Amino acid sequence: MHGGIWTPRCTACGKEEQNLETPLPSLPPKCACGAIQRPGVVWFGEPLPPHAWLAAEQAARRCGLFLVIGTSAVVMPAGGLACLARQSGARIIEINSAETRLSSIADGSLRGPAGAILPELLRP
Ligand SMILES: [Zn+2]
Repeated sequence: MHGGIWTPRCTACGKEEQNLETPLPSLPPKCACGAIQRPGVVWFGEPLPPHAWLAAEQAARRCGLFLVIGTSAVVMPAGGLACLARQSGARIIEINSAETRLSSIADGSLRGPAGAILPELLRP
């Protein structure tokens, strides 16, 4: 939803193109049009890309289980997706070290660092 560091975006023409090169051939990286590229991620104060937000909303409305992992869920609009999923009938499980504003509506809460809990959930 917040973009990808491997898909830089041109600051002039807006072209986005995946680039997995490491190290980058030039710093700052340049677009074919000659302008510099910036990381293809949403920075503080920038809006989410409309297509990404729409996809996230649709996924939240359709899912049966919504996992809230390692976030306080206070930054909007992303923080509201769990509530949207809940209103659409999904169960909510939060994985976080501390209680969050979603704890009271979650069907279950797993307390601890996500880096420790997720591998345990995925272990066969
Ligand atoms: Zn360009």
